[in-house]
Amino acid sequence: MSAFDDSLARARQYLARFRGKTLDHQIGGKSVTGSGGTFETRSPVDDTLLATVARGTAADIDQAAQSATRAFLQWRKTSGEKRREILHRIADAIEARAEEIALIECMDTGQPIRYMSKAALRGAENFRFYADRAPSAADGLSLPTDTHLNYTIREPIGPVGVITPWNTPFMLSTWKIAPALAAGCTVVHKPAEWSPLTAALLVEIAIEAGLPAGALNVVHGFGEDAGRALTEHPEIKAIGFVGETTTGSAIMAQGSQTLKRVHFELGGKNPVIVFDDADLDRALDAVLFMIYSLNGERCTSSSRALVHASIYKEFAAKAAERVKQIKLGHPLDPATEIGPLIHARHVQKVMSYVDAARSAGATVAAGGVLSSLGTNYVEPTLYTGAHNGMKIAQEEIFGPVLTMIPFADEQEALSIANDVRYGLTAYIWTRDVGRAHRVAQAVEAGMVWVNSENVRHLPAPFGGVKSSGIGRDGGDYSFDFYMETKNIAIALGDHKISRLGI
Ligand code: NAD
Repeated sequence: MSAFDDSLARARQYLARFRGKTLDHQIGGKSVTGSGGTFETRSPVDDTLLATVARGTAADIDQAAQSATRAFLQWRKTSGEKRREILHRIADAIEARAEEIALIECMDTGQPIRYMSKAALRGAENFRFYADRAPSAADGLSLPTDTHLNYTIREPIGPVGVITPWNTPFMLSTWKIAPALAAGCTVVHKPAEWSPLTAALLVEIAIEAGLPAGALNVVHGFGEDAGRALTEHPEIKAIGFVGETTTGSAIMAQGSQTLKRVHFELGGKNPVIVFDDADLDRALDAVLFMIYSLNGERCTSSSRALVHASIYKEFAAKAAERVKQIKLGHPLDPATEIGPLIHARHVQKVMSYVDAARSAGATVAAGGVLSSLGTNYVEPTLYTGAHNGMKIAQEEIFGPVLTMIPFADEQEALSIANDVRYGLTAYIWTRDVGRAHRVAQAVEAGMVWVNSENVRHLPAPFGGVKSSGIGRDGGDYSFDFYMETKNIAIALGDHKISRLGI
């Protein structure tokens, strides 16, 4: 049996548990059918029905928020050491079930197994990283004066809502849920309606690992009802959200009545700037990897390649050759580099840019068509001869689509890089150290990689500027979001107090 056949057989076994049953909400450690009926989730691979899923309502969200509120009273008092132990047990269980998580995720999202097997393990790493920080999460500063000792402590903000998108849903949800639990918060998670399955695995794993019932609750459903209700619920103190920029705006408005604290990880149109003095072979590898891996459904993708005019023609020709050879296929085939996109509606959006590109005068140097493999398979696409005013240079396409734009000099590279509404990541390729620093400091982005693809370091801050987000994940930055800082001032002696009414 080939590795592919074997994975397919195992995926079918794992998916069997969802067949013919309703995937319920998980509230207070119990399966809850809810009051909103159901919806179907189908595989982007071949449109087969994977599961019937409970469609959450405001009443279901209320039940979950009440459960998280009750659990908070206990979880916030659970010692940091105990929280560490439980979160490590969750990480152990994720590792033990990594294959199951990865195979289910591939079939639910269309993401190739070559990336998803690592994404499941990254989820475990996220839990371990924050497990080890749980005992010191409440630590603060000592800020003494002559008369007072000021000291700060941090306290968990309360029950929080986590709303996640459909691209790498398991890994992304652990980014949010692990620090929230480590901080002492409890969580109501609303996963994306197009990829709900692995959220069910995570809550099951967490509760089996000893997380108290109600510390993590999952309500499935759509953004406009379950998502909205979560952002409006008065017991929910903060919303950690990953998704589109327009959804972020809606959530900010919805949460305004209850003064929600928000953390937004939103869209991107990230530049990779290739100067003519760079190691061009490595630059090409990184440019292609950062846009064509994960089906291009990646917020940090290098979707705009800005290439020095002196090397543009040759670089674009080499890129086109390579793009034409990228292997599209079934997500469980280990040779597959690009799988099917998440949903027919998303395919429509991605394909709508082909006409826009042509009519604006760009060249379709590769792809631009659907593959014969099936309706959701889009051939990896390269647009050359583009300029930054085109829609394909300004809008987040969120598919395996690269727009390549020439620039004359450093100044022009920077002005093109910054001339978009987004500011998530930027990638710079040059051997000139001074230029690397100049451009890295001037480019409008929350994260910059020089001579590198995106390599994540968990203590480092992750997040965007402009329309790409508000706030930072990673390291202690996540605790700033999930915790309140309290200052306590103790008088050291008899300092002078102004006397009134004498
Ligand atoms: P989306 O905004 O459509 O949906 C994300 C989640 O929000 C889903 O769970 C959805 O049900 C929910 N939602 C929708 N409307 C809502 C509302 N009014 N109130 C509350 N919740 C609502 O995003 P998507 O299409 O699922 O994901 C793709 C987007 O996510 C891209 O723009 C991508 O760049 C972004 N993303 C960003 C990062 C980052 O770190 N910056 C990471 C991954 C994805």
